Amino acid sequence: MRSVEITFLGTGTTIPTIKRRHPAVHLRYHSRNDYSILFDCGEGTQTQLQKARINFMSIDYIFISHWHADHWIGLFGLLTSMAFEGRKKEITIVAPKAKKIGPELLKFFHLPFKTKFVDCLEGTVFDGDEFSVEAMKGKHTTENFAYRFQEREKLKLDKKKIKKLKLNWKDCREIKDKGKIKKDGKTINLRDVSYTVPGKKVVYSGDTQYLKKMEKFAKDSVLIHECTYFSRDDLKDKYHSTLEDVLNLRKFAKKVYLTHISRKYTSQKELEKKIKDYKNVVLAKDLKRVKV
Ligand SMILES: [Zn+2]
Repeated sequence: MRSVEITFLGTGTTIPTIKRRHPAVHLRYHSRNDYSILFDCGEGTQTQLQKARINFMSIDYIFISHWHADHWIGLFGLLTSMAFEGRKKEITIVAPKAKKIGPELLKFFHLPFKTKFVDCLEGTVFDGDEFSVEAMKGKHTTENFAYRFQEREKLKLDKKKIKKLKLNWKDCREIKDKGKIKKDGKTINLRDVSYTVPGKKVVYSGDTQYLKKMEKFAKDSVLIHECTYFSRDDLKDKYHSTLEDVLNLRKFAKKVYLTHISRKYTSQKELEKKIKDYKNVVLAKDLKRVKV
Protein backbone atom coordinates (compact mmCIF):
# COMPACT_ATOMS: atom_id res chain seq x y z
CA MET A 1 0.00 0.00 0.00
CA ARG A 2 1.50 3.32 -1.07
CA SER A 3 1.32 6.29 1.29
CA VAL A 4 2.55 9.86 1.56
CA GLU A 5 2.88 11.50 4.95
CA ILE A 6 3.83 15.10 5.61
CA THR A 7 5.18 16.45 8.90
CA PHE A 8 5.52 20.19 9.37
CA LEU A 9 8.71 20.67 11.34
CA GLY A 10 8.95 24.45 11.17
CA THR A 11 6.25 26.85 10.02
CA GLY A 12 7.75 30.20 11.01
CA THR A 13 9.86 32.82 9.24
CA THR A 14 13.27 34.47 9.72
CA ILE A 15 12.91 34.99 13.47
CA PRO A 16 11.31 31.92 14.99
CA THR A 17 8.89 31.80 17.90
CA ILE A 18 8.34 29.10 20.51
CA LYS A 19 5.42 27.81 18.47
CA ARG A 20 6.75 28.31 14.96
CA ARG A 21 10.31 27.23 14.27
CA HIS A 22 12.40 27.80 11.16
CA PRO A 23 11.11 26.34 7.87
CA ALA A 24 11.33 22.60 7.26
CA VAL A 25 8.87 20.02 5.97
CA HIS A 26 9.40 16.28 6.10
CA LEU A 27 7.83 13.95 3.54
CA ARG A 28 7.74 10.22 4.02
CA TYR A 29 6.85 8.20 0.99
CA HIS A 30 6.15 4.54 1.44
CA SER A 31 5.94 2.41 -1.68
CA ARG A 32 8.07 -0.60 -2.59
CA ASN A 33 10.75 1.26 -0.63
CA ASP A 34 10.61 3.81 2.16
CA TYR A 35 11.76 7.34 1.31
CA SER A 36 12.54 10.10 3.78
CA ILE A 37 12.73 13.56 2.22
CA LEU A 38 13.26 17.03 3.64
CA PHE A 39 12.16 20.31 2.08
CA ASP A 40 14.27 23.09 3.62
CA CYS A 41 16.28 22.64 6.76
CA GLY A 42 16.03 25.66 9.03
CA GLU A 43 17.85 25.98 12.33
CA GLY A 44 16.76 23.35 14.83
CA THR A 45 15.37 20.96 12.23
CA GLN A 46 17.15 18.01 13.84
CA THR A 47 15.50 18.60 17.21
CA GLN A 48 12.12 19.07 15.54
CA LEU A 49 12.68 15.71 13.81
CA GLN A 50 13.30 14.13 17.19
CA LYS A 51 10.13 15.67 18.62
CA ALA A 52 8.22 14.32 15.63
CA ARG A 53 9.83 10.89 16.20
CA ILE A 54 11.38 10.83 12.75
CA ASN A 55 14.76 9.13 12.53
CA PHE A 56 17.09 11.82 11.14
CA MET A 57 19.40 9.09 9.80
CA SER A 58 16.65 8.01 7.40
CA ILE A 59 16.84 11.22 5.35
CA ASP A 60 18.45 10.65 1.96
CA TYR A 61 17.22 13.69 0.01
CA ILE A 62 17.15 17.36 1.00
CA PHE A 63 15.64 20.02 -1.25
CA ILE A 64 16.55 23.59 -0.30
CA SER A 65 14.28 26.28 -1.77
CA HIS A 66 16.76 29.14 -1.45
CA TRP A 67 19.86 30.17 0.42
CA HIS A 68 18.34 32.51 3.00
CA ALA A 69 19.68 31.36 6.36
CA ASP A 70 16.31 30.49 7.88
CA HIS A 71 15.83 27.83 5.21
CA TRP A 72 19.12 25.96 5.39
CA ILE A 73 21.21 26.70 8.47
CA GLY A 74 20.02 23.50 10.14
CA LEU A 75 22.08 21.53 7.60
CA PHE A 76 25.23 22.02 9.71
CA GLY A 77 23.79 20.35 12.78
CA LEU A 78 21.86 17.69 10.93
CA LEU A 79 24.82 16.54 8.82
CA THR A 80 27.15 16.63 11.84
CA SER A 81 24.75 14.43 13.83
CA MET A 82 24.57 12.02 10.90
CA ALA A 83 28.39 11.87 10.90
CA PHE A 84 28.48 11.18 14.65
CA GLU A 85 25.99 8.39 14.19
CA GLY A 86 28.33 6.79 11.66
CA ARG A 87 26.44 7.46 8.47
CA LYS A 88 28.13 6.01 5.39
CA LYS A 89 25.30 6.37 2.91
CA GLU A 90 25.39 9.23 0.40
CA ILE A 91 23.00 12.13 0.90
CA THR A 92 21.59 14.19 -2.00
CA ILE A 93 21.15 17.93 -1.55
CA VAL A 94 19.31 19.83 -4.28
CA ALA A 95 19.45 23.64 -4.17
CA PRO A 96 20.05 26.64 -6.42
CA LYS A 97 23.75 26.70 -7.39
CA ALA A 98 24.28 23.79 -4.99
CA LYS A 99 27.52 22.61 -6.61
CA LYS A 100 29.17 25.98 -5.95
CA ILE A 101 27.61 26.96 -2.62
CA GLY A 102 27.29 23.53 -0.96
CA PRO A 103 31.00 22.53 -0.82
CA GLU A 104 31.91 26.07 0.23
CA LEU A 105 29.55 25.90 3.21
CA LEU A 106 30.77 22.49 4.27
CA LYS A 107 34.49 23.03 3.76
CA PHE A 108 35.24 22.95 7.52
CA PHE A 109 33.29 19.73 8.01
CA HIS A 110 34.83 16.32 7.54
CA LEU A 111 31.84 14.18 6.80
CA PRO A 112 32.42 10.42 6.51
CA PHE A 113 29.75 10.16 3.83
CA LYS A 114 29.36 11.66 0.38
CA THR A 115 27.21 14.75 -0.14
CA LYS A 116 25.93 14.84 -3.67
CA PHE A 117 25.02 18.41 -4.62
CA VAL A 118 22.58 18.93 -7.47
CA ASP A 119 22.04 22.36 -9.06
CA CYS A 120 18.38 23.19 -9.13
CA LEU A 121 17.04 24.32 -12.48
CA GLU A 122 13.45 24.52 -13.68
CA GLY A 123 12.16 21.08 -14.64
CA THR A 124 12.95 17.63 -13.28
CA VAL A 125 15.56 17.72 -10.54
CA PHE A 126 15.10 14.17 -9.34
CA ASP A 127 13.89 11.24 -11.38
CA GLY A 128 13.58 8.05 -9.38
CA ASP A 129 11.85 4.73 -10.01
CA GLU A 130 8.90 5.51 -7.78
CA PHE A 131 8.70 9.31 -7.70
CA SER A 132 10.10 12.41 -9.30
CA VAL A 133 10.66 15.97 -8.13
CA GLU A 134 10.11 18.95 -10.39
CA ALA A 135 11.21 22.52 -9.72
CA MET A 136 9.62 25.85 -10.62
CA LYS A 137 11.31 29.20 -10.18
CA GLY A 138 9.65 31.49 -7.66
CA LYS A 139 10.10 35.24 -7.26
CA HIS A 140 11.94 36.30 -4.14
CA THR A 141 14.85 38.56 -3.20
CA THR A 142 17.16 35.68 -4.05
CA GLU A 143 16.77 32.74 -6.41
CA ASN A 144 14.01 30.50 -5.00
CA PHE A 145 12.55 27.27 -6.30
CA ALA A 146 9.24 25.63 -5.51
CA TYR A 147 9.38 21.82 -5.54
CA ARG A 148 6.77 19.30 -6.60
CA PHE A 149 7.00 15.73 -5.35
CA GLN A 150 5.21 13.50 -7.81
CA GLU A 151 4.42 9.88 -7.25
CA ARG A 152 4.49 7.73 -10.40
CA GLU A 153 1.11 6.88 -11.82
CA LYS A 154 0.05 3.31 -11.28
CA LEU A 155 -1.79 0.79 -13.43
CA LYS A 156 -4.50 -1.12 -11.58
CA LEU A 157 -6.17 -4.23 -12.93
CA ASP A 158 -9.78 -3.71 -14.01
CA LYS A 159 -11.91 -6.52 -12.55
CA LYS A 160 -14.55 -6.32 -15.30
CA LYS A 161 -11.99 -6.60 -18.10
CA ILE A 162 -10.23 -9.49 -16.37
CA LYS A 163 -13.51 -11.37 -16.01
CA LYS A 164 -14.39 -10.76 -19.65
CA LEU A 165 -11.06 -12.16 -20.84
CA LYS A 166 -11.31 -15.04 -18.35
CA LEU A 167 -7.91 -14.35 -16.80
CA ASN A 168 -7.14 -16.33 -13.66
CA TRP A 169 -5.06 -15.31 -10.65
CA LYS A 170 -1.85 -16.71 -12.20
CA ASP A 171 -2.46 -14.82 -15.46
CA CYS A 172 -2.93 -11.60 -13.50
CA ARG A 173 0.32 -12.12 -11.64
CA GLU A 174 2.17 -12.73 -14.91
CA ILE A 175 0.67 -9.76 -16.72
CA LYS A 176 1.58 -7.51 -13.77
CA ASP A 177 5.15 -8.79 -13.70
CA LYS A 178 5.82 -8.96 -17.43
CA GLY A 179 3.49 -6.27 -18.76
CA LYS A 180 1.83 -8.73 -21.15
CA ILE A 181 0.65 -12.30 -21.48
CA LYS A 182 -0.11 -14.78 -24.26
CA LYS A 183 -3.48 -16.42 -23.90
CA ASP A 184 -5.07 -18.69 -26.51
CA GLY A 185 -2.60 -17.42 -29.11
CA LYS A 186 -3.48 -13.77 -28.42
CA THR A 187 -1.26 -11.18 -26.71
CA ILE A 188 -2.92 -9.22 -23.92
CA ASN A 189 -1.09 -6.13 -22.72
CA LEU A 190 -1.32 -4.81 -19.17
CA ARG A 191 -2.78 -1.54 -20.50
CA ASP A 192 -5.65 -3.50 -22.13
CA VAL A 193 -6.87 -4.79 -18.78
CA SER A 194 -6.03 -1.93 -16.43
CA TYR A 195 -6.79 1.68 -15.63
CA THR A 196 -4.48 4.47 -14.48
CA VAL A 197 -4.40 5.71 -10.93
CA PRO A 198 -2.71 9.13 -10.93
CA GLY A 199 0.18 9.63 -8.55
CA LYS A 200 -0.09 11.95 -5.59
CA LYS A 201 1.49 15.38 -5.78
CA VAL A 202 2.86 17.56 -3.03
CA VAL A 203 4.10 21.09 -3.76
CA TYR A 204 6.29 23.15 -1.45
CA SER A 205 6.59 26.80 -2.46
CA GLY A 206 9.62 28.07 -0.55
CA ASP A 207 9.52 31.89 -0.33
CA THR A 208 7.89 33.70 -3.20
CA GLN A 209 5.47 36.38 -4.19
CA TYR A 210 2.27 35.11 -5.76
CA LEU A 211 2.88 33.78 -9.24
CA LYS A 212 0.21 32.90 -11.77
CA LYS A 213 2.22 29.89 -12.98
CA MET A 214 1.82 28.31 -9.53
CA GLU A 215 -1.83 27.62 -10.45
CA LYS A 216 -0.70 25.09 -13.05
CA PHE A 217 2.29 23.80 -11.09
CA ALA A 218 0.14 23.08 -8.03
CA LYS A 219 -2.85 21.66 -9.94
CA ASP A 220 -4.41 18.72 -8.06
CA SER A 221 -1.65 18.75 -5.51
CA VAL A 222 -1.48 19.12 -1.78
CA LEU A 223 0.09 22.55 -1.72
CA ILE A 224 2.27 23.82 1.11
CA HIS A 225 2.50 27.53 0.38
CA GLU A 226 4.15 30.35 2.20
CA CYS A 227 1.69 32.86 3.64
CA THR A 228 3.91 35.31 5.45
CA TYR A 229 1.20 37.97 5.73
CA PHE A 230 -2.47 37.53 6.48
CA SER A 231 -3.37 41.00 5.31
CA ARG A 232 -2.19 43.18 2.45
CA ASP A 233 -1.83 46.03 4.99
CA ASP A 234 0.89 44.06 6.77
CA LEU A 235 2.91 43.47 3.60
CA LYS A 236 6.41 44.85 4.08
CA ASP A 237 7.86 43.78 0.75
CA LYS A 238 6.49 42.37 -2.46
CA TYR A 239 8.52 39.17 -2.34
CA HIS A 240 6.27 37.21 -0.03
CA SER A 241 2.69 36.01 -0.35
CA THR A 242 -0.43 37.17 1.43
CA LEU A 243 -3.50 35.21 2.47
CA GLU A 244 -5.45 36.78 -0.37
CA ASP A 245 -2.89 35.46 -2.86
CA VAL A 246 -2.80 31.96 -1.45
CA LEU A 247 -6.58 31.68 -1.17
CA ASN A 248 -6.72 31.98 -4.93
CA LEU A 249 -4.67 28.78 -5.21
CA ARG A 250 -7.29 26.75 -3.34
CA LYS A 251 -9.22 26.61 -6.63
CA PHE A 252 -6.40 24.67 -8.26
CA ALA A 253 -4.86 22.60 -5.50
CA LYS A 254 -6.69 19.81 -3.68
CA LYS A 255 -5.68 21.16 -0.33
CA VAL A 256 -3.61 24.15 0.77
CA TYR A 257 -1.50 24.30 3.92
CA LEU A 258 -0.41 27.78 4.94
CA THR A 259 3.11 27.99 6.31
CA HIS A 260 5.94 30.52 6.81
CA ILE A 261 3.70 32.61 9.06
CA SER A 262 5.06 35.92 10.32
CA ARG A 263 5.73 36.14 14.06
CA LYS A 264 3.65 39.30 14.19
CA TYR A 265 0.56 37.10 14.37
CA THR A 266 0.43 35.97 17.96
CA SER A 267 -3.15 34.73 18.02
CA GLN A 268 -3.51 31.53 16.02
CA LYS A 269 -7.25 31.62 16.68
CA GLU A 270 -7.51 34.93 14.83
CA LEU A 271 -5.72 33.41 11.83
CA GLU A 272 -7.95 30.35 11.87
CA LYS A 273 -11.02 32.59 11.94
CA LYS A 274 -9.90 34.19 8.69
CA ILE A 275 -9.85 30.87 6.86
CA LYS A 276 -12.77 29.09 8.49
CA ASP A 277 -14.97 29.42 5.40
CA TYR A 278 -12.48 27.67 3.15
CA LYS A 279 -12.71 23.94 3.56
CA ASN A 280 -9.52 23.00 1.76
CA VAL A 281 -7.33 25.66 3.41
CA VAL A 282 -5.53 24.72 6.62
CA LEU A 283 -3.15 26.61 8.87
CA ALA A 284 -0.01 24.50 9.28
CA LYS A 285 1.43 24.07 12.77
CA ASP A 286 4.80 22.81 13.94
CA LEU A 287 4.82 19.02 14.37
CA LYS A 288 1.45 18.59 12.69
CA ARG A 289 1.40 15.36 10.66
CA VAL A 290 -0.98 14.72 7.78
CA LYS A 291 -1.59 11.87 5.37
CA VAL A 292 -1.94 12.88 1.73
ZN1 LIG B 1 11.90 32.53 4.66
